[in-house]
Amino acid sequence: MEKKLKQGTLCVQAGWTPKKGEPRVLPIIQSTTFKYDTSEQMAKLFDLEESGYFYTRLQNPTNDAVAAKITALEGGAAGMLTSSGQSANFYAIFNICSSGDHIVSAAAIYGGTYNLFAVTLKKLGIETTFIDQDASADEISKAFRPNTKALFGEIIGNPGIAVLDIEKFANIAHSHGVPLIVDNTFATPINCRPFEWGADIVTHSTTKYMDGHATNVGGAIVDSGNFDWDNYADKFPGLTEPDESYHGLTYTKAFGKGAYITKATAQLMRDLGAIQAPHNAFLLNMGLETLHLRMPRHCENAQKVAEYLDAHPKIAWVKYPGLKNDKYYTLGQKYLPHGSCGVLSFGLKGGRDESIKFMDNLKLAAIVTHVADARTCVLHPASHTHRQLSEEQLIEAGVAPDLIRLSVGIEDAEDIIADIEQALTK
Ligand SMILES: *Cc1c(COP(=O)(O)O)cnc(C)c1O
Repeated sequence: MEKKLKQGTLCVQAGWTPKKGEPRVLPIIQSTTFKYDTSEQMAKLFDLEESGYFYTRLQNPTNDAVAAKITALEGGAAGMLTSSGQSANFYAIFNICSSGDHIVSAAAIYGGTYNLFAVTLKKLGIETTFIDQDASADEISKAFRPNTKALFGEIIGNPGIAVLDIEKFANIAHSHGVPLIVDNTFATPINCRPFEWGADIVTHSTTKYMDGHATNVGGAIVDSGNFDWDNYADKFPGLTEPDESYHGLTYTKAFGKGAYITKATAQLMRDLGAIQAPHNAFLLNMGLETLHLRMPRHCENAQKVAEYLDAHPKIAWVKYPGLKNDKYYTLGQKYLPHGSCGVLSFGLKGGRDESIKFMDNLKLAAIVTHVADARTCVLHPASHTHRQLSEEQLIEAGVAPDLIRLSVGIEDAEDIIADIEQALTK
């Protein structure tokens, strides 16, 4: 039923359909555990023979309802919540990679994800080759090896604001028999549904627009159910061969389109435990209820701010896919026709020092380590989120030393622009 409903209706209603006498609002099931009548009933749950709740580290009804809403919004087959965007991206990769494997990733990605891939996954024996996402398919293909298990990119690179050519990436991934994983945090399913362009798995930092109010850190993974793991069975034995830790059950045979998410829940959540708290899932759901109203306003405001900055004599450069002179305008029109997001980046004439001075003079826009909030905020990635990267890595990640990342909120555009104006004048 939910498939036929439009995005706004899904934002408000998907995931929780109360029966007679049940609460209208999604309840917070603040319980670690669930009661059964017989030992036999519980045993069946442990064997994955029956589905049902037994321990919140594995599944919780509040979390499942919110995961179902996000899955419906993305048009996916199955989804799950995680404790953060970091754990979502980690699980998305680790669910199909182990020591000795390799992935290919766009270089212009969020600093935390870059670190996860370049440093932490490497320690686990999983290597990453970073590529320029704007290179030709032939060029990107050269990075693939026989042990490559996934291709990864961000719909809108944070903070370089590069739009991903999803179709190109999907074709490259599929020609090498691996899934394309897209981090759709910045566009959200309101502005882009990567599955419609061939992506196989989508990840989110729900901390950003989905929550939208800067109240809780969280993540989500959604599987399209479209990647044929059995067709590349030798590459993905974790999904296609019996799991000894689950009585010899084979995920693709037992769960079909739910195989990938069931494995991530049954193995990774069981063993690593990065769950979202039910209370946070409740708050996330409140955010989702207005996502379809907030995204257009973020985009409308960001477009006005981008045009203002673009025309300002003190501004050296602006990156926003909504600007006609932007490098990613054409890709933006294709994949994000209703707008990209509220995030843009720019630099001041005078470079790094001028940019920092400008930020310190802002009043309405706050300096915070956050983005995609209802409140306008700014950050200087080279000094903040990407601080741990070397000059060389900064350039590879598309972070200029003078880059200011501005996350335009849903206040009145006139007031946001007036604040920028006064800070530029000082
Ligand atoms: C913030 C962010 C992450 C990390 O998410 P957390 O919820 O902070 O762990 C991952 N990807 C993108 C694109 C992000 O903006």
